[in-house]
Amino acid sequence: MNGQGAPPYVEVAVPLGVRRTFTYRLPLAIGNAAQVGARVRVTFGKQQVTGYIVALHDELDRALEVDAREVREIEELIDAEPLITPEILELTRWISDYYLAPWGEVLKAALPAGANARIERVLAITTEGRDELARLPERRALTLKAQLLRMLAEQGPMTVRQAQRTLGTARVARILAELERAGWISIKHQAQNAAARAKRRKFVRLAPIEEHAAPDAARALTAAQTRVIEALIAADGELPFTELTERARASASTIATLERKGIVKIEAREVRRDPLAGVELPPLPDIELNRAQREALDQITAALDQRRYAAFLLHGITGSGKTEIYIRAMRACLEHGRSALMLVPEIALTPVFSRRLRAHFGDRVAILHSSLSAGERFDEWMRIRRAEARVVIGTRSALFAPVQDLGLIVVDEEHDTSYRQQESPFYHARDAAVMRAHKERATIILGSATPSLESFHNAQTGKYRYIHLPERVGGRPLAQAEVIDMRAVFARRGREEALSDELLEALEETLARREQAIILLNRRGYANFILCRACGERIGCPQCDVTLTYHKRERALLCHYCNFRRRPPARCPMCQSQHLHLVGEGTEKIEDLLQAHFPRARTARLDRDTTARRRAYEQTIMRFAAHEIDILVGTQMIAKGHDFPKVTLVGVVSVDAGLALPDFRAAERTFQLITQVAGRAGRGDRRGRVLIQTYHPEHYAIRFACAQDYANFYRHEIEYRKAFGYPPFFALASLLIQDDDLGRAVKRAEKLRRALDRANRDHNCRLLGPAPAPIARLRGQHRIQILAKARRRASLRSLIDLALAETDDLDRVSVEIDPLHLM
Ligand code: ADP
Ligand code: ZN
Ligand code: ZN
Repeated sequence: MNGQGAPPYVEVAVPLGVRRTFTYRLPLAIGNAAQVGARVRVTFGKQQVTGYIVALHDELDRALEVDAREVREIEELIDAEPLITPEILELTRWISDYYLAPWGEVLKAALPAGANARIERVLAITTEGRDELARLPERRALTLKAQLLRMLAEQGPMTVRQAQRTLGTARVARILAELERAGWISIKHQAQNAAARAKRRKFVRLAPIEEHAAPDAARALTAAQTRVIEALIAADGELPFTELTERARASASTIATLERKGIVKIEAREVRRDPLAGVELPPLPDIELNRAQREALDQITAALDQRRYAAFLLHGITGSGKTEIYIRAMRACLEHGRSALMLVPEIALTPVFSRRLRAHFGDRVAILHSSLSAGERFDEWMRIRRAEARVVIGTRSALFAPVQDLGLIVVDEEHDTSYRQQESPFYHARDAAVMRAHKERATIILGSATPSLESFHNAQTGKYRYIHLPERVGGRPLAQAEVIDMRAVFARRGREEALSDELLEALEETLARREQAIILLNRRGYANFILCRACGERIGCPQCDVTLTYHKRERALLCHYCNFRRRPPARCPMCQSQHLHLVGEGTEKIEDLLQAHFPRARTARLDRDTTARRRAYEQTIMRFAAHEIDILVGTQMIAKGHDFPKVTLVGVVSVDAGLALPDFRAAERTFQLITQVAGRAGRGDRRGRVLIQTYHPEHYAIRFACAQDYANFYRHEIEYRKAFGYPPFFALASLLIQDDDLGRAVKRAEKLRRALDRANRDHNCRLLGPAPAPIARLRGQHRIQILAKARRRASLRSLIDLALAETDDLDRVSVEIDPLHLM
C-alpha cells in the first residue's frame, strides 16, 4: 500500500500524437500529494515529457493486461495545486473524444502558453566532484571540465542550457557524459516553468512611527535620506523601489541604510502585468436599448435566471447593436454572482473593444489574447483561476479559461473560421463552447450578421433559440452594395485593370469629403505568382504544390504555406528565358497603385506581412480610428467587427479567387466576407457606399451579399448542401495520410481505404478517395485524402474507430472531424 491509502496509480495524458492515456505508478515520496489535473514529468519511451494526471486508480485496469512490474514511476510532480480545473478536464476530455484528438495535446492547448513546463537537464556537482576540484592544481588556464566544476561548486545547480550559455560553447554537452561517468556531477531531468511565473517587484514602505528609534535619528538624516522619506510621504507612504530611487534621486544603499535604521521597510510582492495598465478608458455612453434589443435581452436574462442550459442564435445585421446586448447580458450574469466568458475572432479583439469592456467591468475583466506577452497572459489566466476576474474576453483558446461558476458564454461573429484550430488538436471553439455551456448549465449566445449555415440550421430545427435584429440602431440605412462587372471594364480598357474607374472615382469623392475608405483584397504580397511567357512555367515552391507569391518590398518570392523564401530569378528556371511576367495582384501592389493615384492621401496596409510585429495591428487600427489614415488596404482582417464612423466607402478589389476554391464552403465564405466588409460602411451619420469588383457578377453568393439578403442566400445554399450531401445534413471527416514518399503514401492510403471498406459493411457511410488533397504536397510531404460522410454522426465515428483500430498506422493518420477547409 501507498502512504495513507493514496491510490498508487495515476492515468496520465501526454501531449504527443497518441490517442490514449498511460498508467504510471506514484512513488511513495509523492503519495497523497498527487491530484487530478496536476502536471507531472514522466518518462515516455526514451523521452522526458510533461504529462497531465487525468485520473487516480486504486489498482491496475485488468483489461489493459499490463504487468504491475512494468509500470513506470512518475518522475516528478510539477504542481501541488492542480492548474486544470475539473470543468476543464471534462471539457478537454469531450473534445479529445469528439475530435479524435490526443487528450494530452488538448490539455496542453488549454493551458496558457507560458505555463507548459519545459523539461530541462539540470547539472549539480557531487561530493566526489568537490573533492576532485580541490585536487586540481591552481592554474591560470583551466580546462573546460574544471571550469564547469568550479562554476557548479560556486553557483549551484544549473541547466545544461545555462551552462552552455555561460561557458559560451557547445562542447559542454560532450564532456557532461564523461563527468557524470566519473561521478563528479549528477544530471537530472527537471520541469522548468520559467517562461511564465508571477512577477515580483520590490516595494518600499514607511515604517509606522513608533517603530523608529529616538528623535535624534531624524537629526542624523542625510539630505538623500530626507528626500527618500519625503518622496514616500508624498506617495502616501509607499512606492516601488525603482520608482523611489528615481523620484528621490537616491541610491539603493541610501534606502538600505534607512531600512537598517528601521525607518522604511522593503518587501517583495507579486505584481500583476496588466495589458491595459495606464490606458485611458472611453466614457460610457448612456445608451437606451431600442425595442428589438430589449426584447432580445429579456429572453436572454430569463434564461440566465433559470440557471439551466440555453442556447441562442442572435442574428443581427451589422450595426444592429448586438454588442450592447452582450454587455448587458454579461452584467446580468455578474449580478447573479456568476462569471461570463466572451469569445471573439482572432483579430477582432481591438484595443478599442478591450477598453470599452474595461470601462464597463473594471478590474473584473481578464483579457486573453495572442498579442499579450506570455507573462501578461499567465497573470490574466491566474486571475481567472483564482476567481478574481469574473468576465473573460479572449480569442479561440479562451474557451479553456478556468472560469469559476460560469453563467454565460458569448461567441461573437460565430461564423468566423478563426474559431477552428487549424492544426492538431483540431477543434472548433464555437461548437465546444456550446458543449461547455451545456455541461456547466450556462446560457450561450452565438451572435452574427451572417450566421454559419450550421448554426442557422440549428435555429431552424429548434436546437438553438432564434433572435433576429433586422435593423440598424437609430434607423441608419444599411449600405447597399453595387457590383462592378470587371468584364465590362476589360472590354472598355482593352486590358485587365486592378482598379476600375468607378472605384477610383468613388475614392476621389470620399477623400474630397474628408471621409475614410477601406479597400479589401484577400491576397497579400505584390503579385500572385511569376509566369514564364516563353514556356508557361509558374515558379512554385520546392516543398509544396503551390506557386510562390512575389513580395516587392522584401524582394522575395514567398511560399504562403511553408514560408520558403527565395530571391526572384532573372531568368526562367526551366527554359532560361527572360520573359518573366508578374500575374495577379496582392495588397502590396494595390497600396502602391493607390499611392500613385492619390499621392496626398494617407494610406496604410493591414495584412499578415504588416502585422507580424506584436501590436503593429493594434497601432494601425488605432491610427485609422483617429483618422490619421485615409485609406486602409488589407485582407479579411479589416472586415471584422470594427466600428469606424467616418468610413463611407468600402471597395472590394476582388473575391473571385475565394469563389474559385475547390471547397464546398467557398460560396458561404464569400457571402460572409462581402456582407461583413460592407457592414463597415456608413456606421456613422453619413451614408455608406460599397463597390464590389468581380468577373462573376451573376454568382448567387455575390448577388445575395450585395443585397444583404441572408434569407435567400441560406435558402439557396442549404438546398445545395442537401443535394450534394454536405453539412449540416451529413457529418464529414477527412483522413489525411502524409508521407515524404509518394508511393508509400498511396500504399498507406489504399490500406486505410480497405480497412474503412471492411468497417463500412455494417455502416452506411460514403467514402471518397484516396485522392490527392487539394494541396497535394506541403512542406515536402505528399498528402493523400480520404473523405468519409454519414447522415448519422455516430456511425461515422464508429466507422473511423473500427478502421483505425485495424491499421497499425493509427497515430499517423491525421483525422479531422467536421473539417472547415478541405486543403
Ligand atoms: P453590432 O455589434 O450589432 O454591429 P454595435 O453593438 O457595435 O452593433 O452597435 C453599433 C453602434 O450603435 C455602436 O456605436 C453602439 O454604441 C451604438 N448603439 C447600440 N445600441 C444603441 C441604442 N440602443 N441606441 C443608440 N446607439 C446604440
Ligand atoms: Zn520558361
Ligand atoms: Zn512551401
